[in-house]
Amino acid sequence: MAMYQPNIETMPREALEQLQSQRLRWQVRRMYERVAPFRARMEERGLTPDDIRGICDLHRLPFSYKKDLRDHYPYGLFAEPMENIKRVHASSGTTGKQIVVGYTQGDLARWADCVSRSMAVADITERSFVQNAFGYGFFTGGFGIHSAAECLGATIIPISAGNTPRQLQTMIDFGATHITCTPSYAMFLAETIEEQGLLPQLKLQAGIFGAEPWSENMRRTIQEKLHIKAYDIYGLSEIMGPGVSYECEAQNGLHICEDHFIAEIIDPETEEVLPYGSPGELVFSTLTKEGFPVIRYRTRDICTLNAEPCACGRTHIRMGRPTGRSDDMLIIRGVNVFPSQIEEVLLKVSEGTITPNYQIIVDRVNNTDTLDVNVEMSEHLFSDDIRSVEAVERRISSELRSILGIGAKIHLQNPKTIERSEGKAKRIIDNRKL
Ligand SMILES: [Zn+2]
Repeated sequence: MAMYQPNIETMPREALEQLQSQRLRWQVRRMYERVAPFRARMEERGLTPDDIRGICDLHRLPFSYKKDLRDHYPYGLFAEPMENIKRVHASSGTTGKQIVVGYTQGDLARWADCVSRSMAVADITERSFVQNAFGYGFFTGGFGIHSAAECLGATIIPISAGNTPRQLQTMIDFGATHITCTPSYAMFLAETIEEQGLLPQLKLQAGIFGAEPWSENMRRTIQEKLHIKAYDIYGLSEIMGPGVSYECEAQNGLHICEDHFIAEIIDPETEEVLPYGSPGELVFSTLTKEGFPVIRYRTRDICTLNAEPCACGRTHIRMGRPTGRSDDMLIIRGVNVFPSQIEEVLLKVSEGTITPNYQIIVDRVNNTDTLDVNVEMSEHLFSDDIRSVEAVERRISSELRSILGIGAKIHLQNPKTIERSEGKAKRIIDNRKL
């Protein structure tokens, strides 16, 4: 298994932390001089760049938020003059105005390096054919993967997202060895390939999947149905795009590219920094970004950090898969519920009786919140008798009550009846009119 930048990826912790401190000092000074809203927040806290001696002072710096990108739309937070910005990406939020991020030539090169670290794990080389089914365009997925595949000298198949029949035909005819897309689309492809019996015609060896939360169960399904290794990649356009962190061959957490990004976990309510291992909101500072740098950016993703040494030899800390969004948190009958808790219960109870496809429906009837969970049965359970189905429903229901502290109605549904989308899976339907 090749490592793309072994000197950096296995750098001793002490040297890595020294590098982070040096880069943080550089970045804070630069942003203080060039990004007026950042300077204003530093001044509010009575801070100057001289107060930041290294990563030990990171916690003193002000947070930044997605709202800042909207407030200073489009270029107000850029730290380079526009002649140095060589590309922009954008994403539309649910609430109106889109957000815009910019990259210098150097940023684009560093981005390709980060994604290449992930691709090297999946054994992508000059001999590989990478079918890139992430969307090309403003979304960072398509171009992020594309540039790294170019960097590694692979043959890129830039098919972009959607159009499943064409994806499958291309995969067969062009001899794709690797597929990159969202995990829910990979699930959809895997199911279709199985149904149509196409597997013997495929040359797939591995896939890199990201841009939405997924589970170990989904990974297992994708790996089994497609006979490939399925690796996770994480990122967001506000920080860079895919490649902020990536899975190694141990498939046990995603190594953060710590030479470029510092991660913290905070309590989303109190904003207090939490120790490694505690679940909380992920916060990133960019150490080397020139065009659009951020300090202590609140990602809203909920996960844990792990500083234990990894079997692969990389020294960069790992993050767990994001299990939800801090703003996805549902308050049901006064209780905080993360959809990821429900998913965990389903995984635990499953034992092959249900599929990873589920939907959470919240409503309010007679001033009382209701929680319904639709889950697809496996073919195996579907063909079993009604008593087995009821027993599984009861098991899920009692497990959920003990984890969440509130009751939920479980509805086991026939296989393949919960709607799949070719983009991101819609897991939560909140019908409450408040
Ligand atoms: Zn590792």
